[in-house]
Amino acid sequence: MMQDLKISIAKLQSGEERSFNMVIPAKSCQLPEEHVEAIQPIVIEGTITHAGDFFVLLANVTTRLRMQCTRCLVEFEKDVHLAIEEELRKAEGSEDFVELSGDDDLYSTFLGHEIDVGQIALEHLVLSLPIKRLCHPECLGLCPICGQDRNKNKCECKDENIDPRLQALKKILNKENQF
Ligand SMILES: [Zn+2]
Ligand SMILES: [Zn+2]
Repeated sequence: MMQDLKISIAKLQSGEERSFNMVIPAKSCQLPEEHVEAIQPIVIEGTITHAGDFFVLLANVTTRLRMQCTRCLVEFEKDVHLAIEEELRKAEGSEDFVELSGDDDLYSTFLGHEIDVGQIALEHLVLSLPIKRLCHPECLGLCPICGQDRNKNKCECKDENIDPRLQALKKILNKENQF
Protein backbone atom coordinates (compact mmCIF):
# COMPACT_ATOMS: atom_id res chain seq x y z
CA MET A 1 0.00 0.00 0.00
CA MET A 2 1.22 3.45 -0.85
CA GLN A 3 2.08 5.45 2.19
CA ASP A 4 0.81 8.98 2.58
CA LEU A 5 3.62 11.23 1.51
CA LYS A 6 2.08 14.42 2.84
CA ILE A 7 2.79 15.78 6.28
CA SER A 8 0.03 17.54 8.15
CA ILE A 9 1.06 20.81 9.71
CA ALA A 10 -2.38 21.75 11.02
CA LYS A 11 -1.43 21.27 14.66
CA LEU A 12 2.11 22.48 14.46
CA GLN A 13 2.60 25.49 16.73
CA SER A 14 5.08 28.23 15.98
CA GLY A 15 8.54 27.04 17.00
CA GLU A 16 7.54 23.38 16.96
CA GLU A 17 8.97 20.78 14.66
CA ARG A 18 7.69 17.47 13.38
CA SER A 19 9.94 14.69 12.28
CA PHE A 20 9.00 12.15 9.66
CA ASN A 21 10.37 9.09 7.98
CA MET A 22 8.79 7.83 4.78
CA VAL A 23 9.57 5.23 2.18
CA ILE A 24 8.42 5.25 -1.44
CA PRO A 25 8.65 1.74 -2.89
CA ALA A 26 10.80 1.73 -6.01
CA LYS A 27 8.04 0.12 -8.06
CA SER A 28 5.47 2.78 -7.31
CA CYS A 29 7.82 5.61 -8.09
CA GLN A 30 7.82 6.87 -11.65
CA LEU A 31 10.44 9.57 -12.04
CA PRO A 32 9.54 12.19 -14.66
CA GLU A 33 12.83 11.67 -16.43
CA GLU A 34 13.58 9.36 -19.32
CA HIS A 35 15.97 6.46 -18.74
CA VAL A 36 16.13 7.04 -14.99
CA GLU A 37 14.47 4.75 -12.47
CA ALA A 38 14.72 4.05 -8.78
CA ILE A 39 15.77 0.47 -8.11
CA GLN A 40 15.71 0.77 -4.33
CA PRO A 41 13.05 2.35 -2.14
CA ILE A 42 13.31 6.11 -1.84
CA VAL A 43 13.80 6.86 1.85
CA ILE A 44 12.97 10.38 3.00
CA GLU A 45 13.62 11.43 6.58
CA GLY A 46 13.70 14.84 8.12
CA THR A 47 11.79 17.54 9.93
CA ILE A 48 9.31 20.28 9.26
CA THR A 49 9.61 23.29 11.55
CA HIS A 50 7.02 25.99 11.99
CA ALA A 51 9.20 29.09 11.91
CA GLY A 52 6.54 31.77 12.36
CA ASP A 53 5.81 33.16 8.90
CA PHE A 54 6.95 30.09 7.09
CA PHE A 55 7.89 26.42 7.41
CA VAL A 56 11.32 24.90 7.02
CA LEU A 57 11.68 21.48 5.50
CA LEU A 58 14.95 19.67 6.14
CA ALA A 59 15.28 16.18 4.74
CA ASN A 60 17.71 13.55 3.60
CA VAL A 61 16.77 11.48 0.59
CA THR A 62 18.52 8.22 -0.23
CA THR A 63 17.96 5.70 -2.97
CA ARG A 64 19.74 3.89 -5.76
CA LEU A 65 19.05 4.88 -9.35
CA ARG A 66 19.53 3.06 -12.61
CA MET A 67 20.17 5.33 -15.55
CA GLN A 68 21.59 5.38 -19.02
CA CYS A 69 25.00 6.75 -19.87
CA THR A 70 24.55 9.73 -22.19
CA ARG A 71 27.72 8.79 -24.11
CA CYS A 72 27.69 5.03 -24.55
CA LEU A 73 23.99 4.33 -23.72
CA VAL A 74 24.93 1.55 -21.28
CA GLU A 75 22.80 1.33 -18.14
CA PHE A 76 24.53 1.88 -14.83
CA GLU A 77 23.54 2.24 -11.18
CA LYS A 78 24.33 4.97 -8.72
CA ASP A 79 23.64 5.55 -5.02
CA VAL A 80 22.05 8.90 -4.33
CA HIS A 81 22.20 10.85 -1.07
CA LEU A 82 20.51 14.19 -1.17
CA ALA A 83 20.08 16.88 1.48
CA ILE A 84 17.04 19.09 1.03
CA GLU A 85 16.49 22.44 2.63
CA GLU A 86 13.38 24.27 1.61
CA GLU A 87 11.32 27.18 2.88
CA LEU A 88 7.61 26.92 2.37
CA ARG A 89 4.88 29.50 2.68
CA LYS A 90 1.15 29.19 2.42
CA ALA A 91 -0.08 30.02 -1.07
CA GLU A 92 -3.24 31.64 -2.32
CA GLY A 93 -3.00 30.01 -5.74
CA SER A 94 -4.85 26.97 -6.93
CA GLU A 95 -2.11 24.36 -7.13
CA ASP A 96 -0.99 22.15 -4.30
CA PHE A 97 2.63 22.92 -4.60
CA VAL A 98 4.15 25.70 -6.63
CA GLU A 99 7.84 26.25 -7.00
CA LEU A 100 8.31 29.95 -7.45
CA SER A 101 11.12 31.52 -9.33
CA GLY A 102 12.23 35.10 -9.37
CA ASP A 103 14.49 37.39 -7.43
CA ASP A 104 12.65 37.54 -4.15
CA ASP A 105 10.88 34.19 -4.37
CA LEU A 106 13.40 31.96 -2.72
CA TYR A 107 10.73 29.80 -1.21
CA SER A 108 8.05 27.40 -2.33
CA THR A 109 4.39 27.51 -1.49
CA PHE A 110 1.73 25.04 -0.52
CA LEU A 111 -2.02 24.99 -0.01
CA GLY A 112 -4.13 23.66 2.81
CA HIS A 113 -2.68 22.08 5.92
CA GLU A 114 -0.37 19.55 4.34
CA ILE A 115 3.06 19.66 2.86
CA ASP A 116 3.64 17.15 0.08
CA VAL A 117 7.08 16.00 1.17
CA GLY A 118 7.07 13.11 -1.32
CA GLN A 119 6.57 15.40 -4.29
CA ILE A 120 9.16 17.90 -3.09
CA ALA A 121 11.70 15.12 -2.55
CA LEU A 122 11.12 13.69 -6.04
CA GLU A 123 11.48 17.11 -7.62
CA HIS A 124 14.79 17.62 -5.85
CA LEU A 125 15.89 14.16 -6.89
CA VAL A 126 15.25 14.91 -10.56
CA LEU A 127 16.85 18.36 -10.32
CA SER A 128 19.97 16.84 -8.76
CA LEU A 129 20.61 14.64 -11.79
CA PRO A 130 23.48 15.85 -13.92
CA ILE A 131 22.65 16.69 -17.56
CA LYS A 132 25.51 14.44 -18.65
CA ARG A 133 25.07 11.15 -16.90
CA LEU A 134 28.20 9.12 -17.40
CA CYS A 135 28.80 5.46 -16.55
CA HIS A 136 32.38 6.49 -15.90
CA PRO A 137 34.01 9.96 -15.96
CA GLU A 138 36.23 8.86 -18.85
CA CYS A 139 33.60 6.99 -20.80
CA LEU A 140 34.72 6.91 -24.44
CA GLY A 141 31.19 6.74 -25.81
CA LEU A 142 30.06 5.33 -29.12
CA CYS A 143 32.09 5.70 -32.28
CA PRO A 144 30.27 8.32 -34.41
CA ILE A 145 31.19 6.39 -37.54
CA CYS A 146 30.59 2.69 -36.86
CA GLY A 147 28.54 3.00 -33.70
CA GLN A 148 30.63 0.59 -31.62
CA ASP A 149 31.03 1.09 -27.91
CA ARG A 150 34.58 2.38 -27.72
CA ASN A 151 34.90 1.26 -24.10
CA LYS A 152 34.61 -2.33 -25.28
CA ASN A 153 36.09 -2.36 -28.77
CA LYS A 154 38.75 -0.27 -30.32
CA CYS A 155 37.60 0.30 -33.87
CA GLU A 156 39.73 1.37 -36.79
CA CYS A 157 37.59 4.32 -37.77
CA LYS A 158 39.38 7.59 -38.32
CA ASP A 159 37.76 10.86 -37.34
CA GLU A 160 38.20 12.28 -40.82
CA ASN A 161 34.72 13.64 -40.98
CA ILE A 162 35.14 15.60 -37.82
CA ASP A 163 34.29 19.28 -37.99
CA PRO A 164 37.56 21.17 -38.65
CA ARG A 165 36.66 23.68 -35.96
CA LEU A 166 36.44 20.85 -33.44
CA GLN A 167 39.74 19.48 -34.66
CA ALA A 168 41.40 22.82 -34.04
CA LEU A 169 39.92 22.90 -30.58
CA LYS A 170 41.18 19.39 -29.97
CA LYS A 171 44.70 20.44 -30.86
CA ILE A 172 44.53 23.34 -28.42
CA LEU A 173 43.20 21.10 -25.66
CA ASN A 174 45.93 18.53 -26.30
CA LYS A 175 48.56 21.22 -26.03
CA GLU A 176 47.11 22.48 -22.79
CA ASN A 177 47.14 19.00 -21.36
CA GLN A 178 50.87 18.77 -21.87
CA PHE A 179 51.63 21.40 -19.25
ZN1 LIG B 1 29.27 5.30 -20.83
ZN1 LIG C 1 34.23 3.08 -35.31
